[in-house]
Amino acid sequence: MLKRKGLLLVVSGPSGAGKGTICKELLKQNDQIKLSVSATTRKPRNGEVDGVNYFFLEKEKFQSMIKNGEFLEYAQIYDNFYGTPKAAIIECLENGQDVILEIEMQGARQIKEVYPEGVFIFVLPPSLNELKNRIVGRGTETEEEIAKRFSCAFEEINQIVNYDYFVVNEDVSKSSKEVESIILSEKNKVSRY
Ligand code: 5GP
Repeated sequence: MLKRKGLLLVVSGPSGAGKGTICKELLKQNDQIKLSVSATTRKPRNGEVDGVNYFFLEKEKFQSMIKNGEFLEYAQIYDNFYGTPKAAIIECLENGQDVILEIEMQGARQIKEVYPEGVFIFVLPPSLNELKNRIVGRGTETEEEIAKRFSCAFEEINQIVNYDYFVVNEDVSKSSKEVESIILSEKNKVSRY
């Protein structure tokens, strides 16, 4: 039987573009994909569970993991660190399990260097106005954080050139179907076997 490694999907986009919601929808529809759980030094938000949404770590622990080479990638975003624990991802890929990473662009660039066969997808908001409404509407950030995230979004959108595909997120269900069709095409690439 034909055997291939799992697909490593990297989904990025400006804060508020809806990449998290698209990934959740995708996982609801497709139980063949595993979502990577990142580590972070930021504090849990209401309802977030350690080991499910993130592994919430102290800065010292995070830094010792960096030193020990335990991250596939990591980045400092705003005042916190975020990183993808390496071991679990490598094991999945070797076993043919597809994995999705929902990470920002600095991390995506690092992954492209070490794992160019990854599939890089950029999620765009329908408009910048809509982006602002979504960040405000989420109600999880302070006014200062909202302003910071919104002004970063302009710079972030330029990073789209480093990605293989883009999805304009007007409707979550439509966007997640688009991601599914990207996955399907990538799985059928002769070069992956
Ligand atoms: P939040 O604090 O809103 O959960 O996430 C902030 C940003 O960090 C989002 O853009 C999210 O995609 C990104 N992020 C989450 N986990 C990781 C990770 O493991 N590595 C990197 N580079 N970014 C991450």
